[in-house]
Amino acid sequence: MPRQDETYRTLEHTVQRIKSKEYGAVDAEDRKTLDEVFDKPALMSIYKLMKEGYIESIDFPISTGKEANVFRITSPEGKRFALKIYRTSNLTFKRIARYIEGDQRFIGLRGSRRKIIMAWATKEYRNLLRLQEAKVRVPAAIRFHNNLLLMEYLGTEDMPAPMLRNVVLEEPTKTYKLILKYMRLAYQKAELVHGDLSEYNILWMDGPVIIDCGQGMTLDHPNAMEFLRRDISNVNRYFRSLDVDVLDDETTLKQITKGKK
Ligand code: ADP
Ligand code: MN
Repeated sequence: MPRQDETYRTLEHTVQRIKSKEYGAVDAEDRKTLDEVFDKPALMSIYKLMKEGYIESIDFPISTGKEANVFRITSPEGKRFALKIYRTSNLTFKRIARYIEGDQRFIGLRGSRRKIIMAWATKEYRNLLRLQEAKVRVPAAIRFHNNLLLMEYLGTEDMPAPMLRNVVLEEPTKTYKLILKYMRLAYQKAELVHGDLSEYNILWMDGPVIIDCGQGMTLDHPNAMEFLRRDISNVNRYFRSLDVDVLDDETTLKQITKGKK
């Protein structure tokens, strides 16, 4: 245990600060969550990224979700990044296990709950790289370690980028078409289906950015088509609600999958 180490003490101090009242938004419930997120193994993982020179400080929580917490962090060079820490709770495990099981990339992965959750962070990291390669706009993946994922931070100095659902779009039709293009590129080039696409998992930073790619699955996944249909239906439903002249779901599916076996 690096108890005496200065970096470790800085880390403990940072975590203490985040948990403390300094952040008005942190209520009792959130604090319980934070205790769970910053468990011993997580602290050790963050410590490793600090030692490697990726993290200087944890600035503030961006989001507290059911499966992961996201924090804004600063690197020793003063660069901002987003750090996603997957929870290792049983709830998270139950939801993600079935995605991992059908994914050829993780064939033969057996073992502890923890191991599977680690694989999940790896999976999101790899999906982000594949999507970026296919020219889908996603946060650039920087590093993963255990249940941690470090990626490009989307937002301004003090405000994380808003979700699509909280943005008044100037050109909704153009945005709709761009998102369909991203879905097509994901399918055709990255050979991935997002699997949880909606106005909640698209951020806005001078344009749409697709996030939360952990459940993204390869086309050979037994549920890939079912999830693609759901993604399409979510996107079409949302843009229909904005009075965009959307395609019907079947036509959209054909456009996205056209020419692929
Ligand atoms: P989950 O929905 O599983 O909790 P997400 O990946 O969707 O995880 O992240 C949760 C929230 O954190 C997002 O809705 C978004 O507000 C914020 N967020 C995620 N990634 C980034 C990022 N790279 N930059 C800025 N904010 C982010
Ligand atoms: Mn999400």
